[in-house]
Amino acid sequence: MQTKRICLDQAATSFPKPPVVAEAVLNYMTSNGSNVSRSSYKSAYEAEDTVLETRELLCTLFGWDDPACVIFTSGVTASLNWLIKGLPGDHVLVSSMEHNAVMRPLVQLQKSGVTFDRIPADENGQMDLSSLPGLVRDNTKALICTHASNVNGAVNPLERLGSFCKEQGLTFIVDTAQSAGRCPIDMKALSIDCLAFTGHKGLLGPQGTGGFIIRREPAEKMEPLMAGGTGSFSHTELIPEALPDRFEPGTPNLPGIFGLNAALKWILETGCGNIYAKEKALYDRLKEGLEATDGIRIIGCPEGDGRGMAPMPVLSVTTPGRDAALVSALLDEQASVQTRVGLHCAPSAHRTLGTFPEGTLRFSPGYFTAGEEIDICVEALQNVLKQIPLGI
Ligand code: PMP
Repeated sequence: MQTKRICLDQAATSFPKPPVVAEAVLNYMTSNGSNVSRSSYKSAYEAEDTVLETRELLCTLFGWDDPACVIFTSGVTASLNWLIKGLPGDHVLVSSMEHNAVMRPLVQLQKSGVTFDRIPADENGQMDLSSLPGLVRDNTKALICTHASNVNGAVNPLERLGSFCKEQGLTFIVDTAQSAGRCPIDMKALSIDCLAFTGHKGLLGPQGTGGFIIRREPAEKMEPLMAGGTGSFSHTELIPEALPDRFEPGTPNLPGIFGLNAALKWILETGCGNIYAKEKALYDRLKEGLEATDGIRIIGCPEGDGRGMAPMPVLSVTTPGRDAALVSALLDEQASVQTRVGLHCAPSAHRTLGTFPEGTLRFSPGYFTAGEEIDICVEALQNVLKQIPLGI
């Protein structure tokens, strides 16, 4: 019996991480342990150097040049809340493949008069760009979209969306939860105004890390969602104007940022292009194995972004006549293959793909998944399907 854990749930959170990540967290906890921007002794300055370096590493990764524009939060959900609730709304456009990290804050804002429209997509989750101009209204202020779907890996055409937003004067906000660290992303080349990232998925860092990078101009218009001590400008009870302090009240997640620092160095050394190539090979191998499996239906296989970018390594299937939750449980029980079943916090994406409300069984490999593990997963899936009679 297969006992080694095969994590094909990397879209939820990546596992394992490069060993340097846990080492950096432990090292901070045991040898430094100081706060930043507050005290004036050596270990505090050392911690501050690492935090600044982490901002610089994020700039290098995302093609930005101003580390003060990098704001740390607890993850992409927090970042999207800051951006969606802090920037003037009125009317915004979203893709049809959004996660609830975008949809719930937007629906919450409907009470205060914010409205939104979804840009239609086909049954593979591929955005219909031709509908875009007709959706813009006089009061449209922003376009928010995920870079890659956490349900089927479909990638949105950021380059074309970015140019469109620039032409129309819309703030372009991108959720990179499923793509950061897994493919090259250049904020300037893609005309992204605000990029939200999470540390614990493709960036291979600890849970509870993440943030956003914001251009100076939208930052000036953005209302801070939270207020508190920053260790700076302590003479005043007003929220500081300076970045990143304006959007970073309270003590940051320093063990997490130290871990993220190590993860980012590992990613930059490995190269996003190499990570993308390796994960694409895993996606292709998995897709091929699933295509050869009877009793499942692969959901919405997207083509890519039309500019050479393949889907991110996330594949969803349905198991017609069989309970997908049982399939998922047996995969874990019999082969230690970890998958995720259900709606993946993305009802809008499932509606687009025609899999609402039952959802899908999702497979998401990562950089450390071995090719043979994909084969083990496919074989285990075929065995499990044979064990469950139709109609159960
Ligand atoms: N957006 C997308 C596309 C996601 O896949 C996720 C995580 N499933 C999130 C946002 C939220 O990420 P986090 O829980 O790290 O805040």
